[in-house]
Amino acid sequence: MNLILLGMPGSGKGTVASWLQEKYLYRQISTGDLLREERKVGTQLGKQVEVIMNEGKLVSDEMIIELVKKHIKTVGFKGVVFDGFPRTVFQAKSLDETTNIDQVIFLKVSEKIVVDRLLNRSDDSGQRREDDNERVIKERIKVYMENTQPLIDHYEKKCLLTTLDGGVSIENVRNKVKEVIESL
Ligand code: AMP
Repeated sequence: MNLILLGMPGSGKGTVASWLQEKYLYRQISTGDLLREERKVGTQLGKQVEVIMNEGKLVSDEMIIELVKKHIKTVGFKGVVFDGFPRTVFQAKSLDETTNIDQVIFLKVSEKIVVDRLLNRSDDSGQRREDDNERVIKERIKVYMENTQPLIDHYEKKCLLTTLDGGVSIENVRNKVKEVIESL
């Protein structure tokens, strides 16, 4: 069973996806994490995407689709949970051609909440992301509205979309996600 988590930056997709990987044996494919890993290792791709990511713009569809292909492994997993992918209609259509998607969970959160969350988040070691600053957050939200929001319609038409309130506590969101996947 393959899932997609959809939502603005800061809507909780990453948190839910890593929990699904740990607890329910879904393979998490987070294109943002994969790109950050490429940058850390210093690959050619990592170098190419650095400026784009720091400006909150989108990496090209071709690069992203190639990256996903490289990492999509389902053996030993219940399925895949995509987080941060697809982000454009082109990416979604390309995924439609290769992978059967069983459910798309849209974590709906207000802009105010996501800005607050992004300005206050840090990773386990207390590190903050370079793109979590006010200027770039604004750009990422704009990019989301223009490129990613149309995917809600795309998956609604396919009758695959479930909308959840992502503005509540993480425990609450997890419980709702659990209900959705257990009902499939
Ligand atoms: P994220 O960790 O999902 O917020 O992604 C961080 C950044 O990586 C984004 O702002 C984009 O620059 C890039 N990125 C991640 N996923 C994608 C994608 N599916 N398509 C294009 N760019 C992406």
